[in-house]
Amino acid sequence: MAKLSIVFIASEAAPLAKTGGLADVVGSLPHALKKLGHRVTVIMPFYRQQISDAGIETRSMKLEVEMWADGQQRHCPLHKTTVDGLDFILIEQDDLYARDGIYGPPGGAYEDNLLRFLLFDRVALEAAALLPGNTDIIHCHDWQTGMIPLLLKTQYYHHAKIAQARTVYTIHNLAYQGVFPADWIHRLGIPSHHFNAEGFEFHDQINCMKAAIESCDAITTVSPSYAQEILTPEYGSALEGFLGNHAAKLSGIVNGLDIDDWDPLTDSNIVENYGPGKIAGKKQCKKDLQERCGFEVSAKIPMLTIISRLAEQKGIDLLIANIEAWMKRGYQLVVLGSGDAKDEEQLQQLVLKHPKQLFFYKGFNEGLARKIYAGGDIFLMPSRFEPCGLGQLMAMRYGTVPVVRATGGLRDTVTDYNDSKTEATGIHFTEATAAAFDLAVEQAVELFHKPSVWSHIRTHALKRDSSWDASAKEYSQLYESLLS
Ligand code: ADP
Repeated sequence: MAKLSIVFIASEAAPLAKTGGLADVVGSLPHALKKLGHRVTVIMPFYRQQISDAGIETRSMKLEVEMWADGQQRHCPLHKTTVDGLDFILIEQDDLYARDGIYGPPGGAYEDNLLRFLLFDRVALEAAALLPGNTDIIHCHDWQTGMIPLLLKTQYYHHAKIAQARTVYTIHNLAYQGVFPADWIHRLGIPSHHFNAEGFEFHDQINCMKAAIESCDAITTVSPSYAQEILTPEYGSALEGFLGNHAAKLSGIVNGLDIDDWDPLTDSNIVENYGPGKIAGKKQCKKDLQERCGFEVSAKIPMLTIISRLAEQKGIDLLIANIEAWMKRGYQLVVLGSGDAKDEEQLQQLVLKHPKQLFFYKGFNEGLARKIYAGGDIFLMPSRFEPCGLGQLMAMRYGTVPVVRATGGLRDTVTDYNDSKTEATGIHFTEATAAAFDLAVEQAVELFHKPSVWSHIRTHALKRDSSWDASAKEYSQLYESLLS
């Protein structure tokens, strides 16, 4: 296998700055690619606040890139850091990236997001060109880096050391396409001759994801099922036809996890470590979670859990619709998440009614997330669509049985009890309705009360191989096929 020089360009990466699954992937897939012998560098914005909160030290590279954007000549200093052997280059521009949020204030988006990320894209290409040797692969992620393949084929096509690179574009979520008013084209110098139906024009607006779909060498999505689904009107977010035109370069590669980081045998955030064949610690984790939440401590009460952005996509309305019934049946429910203000308000009201059975933490808290993955019995993901989903992988890794809607990556990664009683790692439901979700939860609770059956499912979940090994090989093969 050839040893390639690969550059990941992305808007977030764990453990430096994270809002969701994108960061998990960008922070972990490069490690697996490095194990295969490739050289990988990750380039992202220098989010001064988030990176310092994560306790990560950075060094100035004593280099800066000059870049024009929106009538202003900017000087962008470069910083670097190495985390667990993986090199990051960070682009400084404090008025744009040193803010409280990565994409916006809670529940919103910054108005100048196109300026923020287009500047980032251009400086990232310049930074890639500063690396030793030629770059073979530039791997971009989601709308924030969608313009990069187009820039590389137009304004950067003669740029030494990066011009020959092949571009891979991964769609982590087609619902967020980066759509902005067309007047930004001139303000940011975006190649206007591609502002048409075959290019990045979308209802007279700029669509960053369309730019990537048109110009990249390969498109991937984060699960095989989602790669199929986005070609249909139901899941295509109005781009199904356009994606269909480019379907020859589309494939799905399922996400993995950093299984060293997400390991109940070593996780220092949980009260007692455990794993397959050493399950006693999980009981202690459940007890700890029940105490933290102010619930009755009992191994017999089913503990339902959910860790999620509160958004339409995630089916939070289906969850809320069932809470009263679940409280009546005596279940306990822990919710960690933030987002939609109406969902937050409804959950807060429900907590006031059921303080001994329902716990809601509004916000982002990774330490608590780990305690919940460890302490729960059942993990809920009633998503309307789910490109891959990492929550269910983390839940299985911690022996918490997922109940998921059979869509996208949830279908691909959770083996349904109703399909295979021997191989099951969770339970699927199909219809995006509160009633169908409730039936699946009921089945899970019924199985929970049959200790030998439950232990069988839980052990399968715990032992599931969610590592990056197989998927990193698939990415590696894809990169090589583009270069051959
Ligand atoms: P998304 O669509 O949000 O990217 P994923 O399931 O792919 O959904 O990934 C979500 C990631 O973010 C997981 O690592 C999950 O544990 C984490 N996460 C989501 N919400 C929170 C929260 N409120 N606090 C801590 N971690 C969270």
